[in-house]
Amino acid sequence: MASASMAVPGEKQGSLQQDGSRKFVHPADVTGRFTRIRWVVFGVLIAIYAALPWITIGGHPAVFLDIEHRRFYLFGGTFNAQDAWLVFFLVSGVGFALIAMTALWGRVWCGYACPQTVFLEGFFRRVERWIEGPREQRIRRNAAPLSFDKVWRKSLKHAIFAALSLLVAHIFLSYFTSLDQLFRWVRLSPTEHPEAFGWMAGISVLMYLNFAWFREQLCLIVCPYGRLQSVLTDKDSIIIGYDAKRGEPRGKAGREGVGDCIDCKRCVVVCPTAIDIRHGLQLECVGCAACIDACDEIMDKIGRPRGLVRYDSQSGLDGERRRFWRPRLALYGVLGLVGLIVATTSFARRTAFEANLLRAQGPPFVVDGGTVRNTFNIHLVNKSPQLATLRIVAEASDRLDYILPIPSIELASLASATVPVIVTASLDELPDGAHVKLRAELVGAETPRELEAPFLAPQREHHDDGGEHDEHESRAEGGH
Ligand code: SF4
Ligand code: SF4
Repeated sequence: MASASMAVPGEKQGSLQQDGSRKFVHPADVTGRFTRIRWVVFGVLIAIYAALPWITIGGHPAVFLDIEHRRFYLFGGTFNAQDAWLVFFLVSGVGFALIAMTALWGRVWCGYACPQTVFLEGFFRRVERWIEGPREQRIRRNAAPLSFDKVWRKSLKHAIFAALSLLVAHIFLSYFTSLDQLFRWVRLSPTEHPEAFGWMAGISVLMYLNFAWFREQLCLIVCPYGRLQSVLTDKDSIIIGYDAKRGEPRGKAGREGVGDCIDCKRCVVVCPTAIDIRHGLQLECVGCAACIDACDEIMDKIGRPRGLVRYDSQSGLDGERRRFWRPRLALYGVLGLVGLIVATTSFARRTAFEANLLRAQGPPFVVDGGTVRNTFNIHLVNKSPQLATLRIVAEASDRLDYILPIPSIELASLASATVPVIVTASLDELPDGAHVKLRAELVGAETPRELEAPFLAPQREHHDDGGEHDEHESRAEGGH
């Protein structure tokens, strides 16, 4: 829904030079209500990002994606690779919820909660401002020849950027490896863990290049979400927009016949992607609301009402009534809800262990004298977050004899094991349709799992007179 109602023909994008090369953006500082809200959100999110690997639930970090061992711990839930199907519903649910949120409130995620925004605005730009001063000073110094002042400030800034990148890289890695392991790697020489060191160094370099140099280009060029903005929003979505009806024609404050916009360009210089919001919603707008605070500050100074640049829908800016319910919102919302409900109920209904009864390889039964034998394996997985004892119990039967060489086994969280089960029966006493019945249970925990499989044996020959005899002629596949 990108609008170009106020675009100036031939005007170049803010972060590009006339020849198409990159123009480094130096956004000016801004204060105001939305900036304060963002600061609070950034602080909370940085604390959450950094704390999650430290918070333990059920003996494991709140979020720990142990890719090496294909074990995943999420807020007390333990998952293995077989649970990957759950991720589909979770990701699609979250994805559609984000899409519904975009249809409702535009790119609020980008402006307030995306890690790129949170770390760039919360850490790196603050450091830059602290060492190199406000926008005008930074631009002047960059254009000036090399000097002692320039060298020490740049060196200090990049040294801190490098340290911050290392810190952010370690926070990132702590989601994929245990904290003990991470601290051990930090203490050891890189030669003792070259692969892990390579990952850490690579991620740190990427973080440094991103936050020190690439910055808004990640949102403009790499991130697919921003590209989708125009198809996800419509004229009733809340966006950040300029009220052209009220602001135009631009001109000096108080002059006859001019609108409220005094063309001070304050909304442009604070923009982290260097666009002019007065040209309408653009793909480059990351929804940071800096231009709202900037313009409100100007409106306060010239004694005009706030909100020349504001959160509003295109309908609202055009003076029309905004519709809240729209078919697309209902569709995105329903799809998001379906995904989240399926994921949540599937997570909630997961049992603390898995037990599957599998017939052992080889012939399905073995006849030995007057007895027939079936051999099974039970594959057990402890999906609880701690060490647990899993027990196999055979159902009492006067026809089938169960041999359980390993009736119980201790398994670490997400560990698995296979235990054998041998079942024998006398051919003379074996009833038709006999079934092997076992129960697997996690000691001290929830409902047991019933395991059942047919007991296979050679089928008896039926004579015309309806009688049976017990010759061991097998009609069962693979019988012996
Ligand atoms: S900050 Fe407000 S008054 Fe200044 S140019 Fe932007 S819209 Fe116009
Ligand atoms: S136009 Fe306004 S809201 Fe959009 S990125 Fe620029 S300053 Fe942020």
